[in-house]
Amino acid sequence: MIPLKDPIFRNETRAREYFEKLRWRDGRQCPHCGEGDKTVALHGQSHREGLYYCNNCKGQFTATVGTPLEGSKVPLHKWLLAHRLLNDDAENISVSKMHRIVGVSYKTAWLMAQRLQAAAILGFFTEFL
Ligand SMILES: [Zn+2]
Repeated sequence: MIPLKDPIFRNETRAREYFEKLRWRDGRQCPHCGEGDKTVALHGQSHREGLYYCNNCKGQFTATVGTPLEGSKVPLHKWLLAHRLLNDDAENISVSKMHRIVGVSYKTAWLMAQRLQAAAILGFFTEFL
């Protein structure tokens, strides 16, 4: 059974924290220059949640930069749920069913599936399974 009520599938902040933990298992790292220690979280109303600043290269980044999810307008919690659904062998969920559960259009779901498939080939997200 897929735990559809799990906060990482429903709440964007929880999804982001979960994703960050997986992405930066060995500590946060700037995707532009590889810096770890000199990166800080940006807070305040002018910054969106999950935005970080690198004091080394002066760049900004989020946990999705450098992953197949970079630049997506689909919220992270929907990505996590779509990934979970499509990779559950027991449930064997198709895109046409997934789009209703996740709450995106069929076209968006199809594009998400394509990206997730490419991501899997690249070795991303294997830790979600
Ligand atoms: Zn940097």
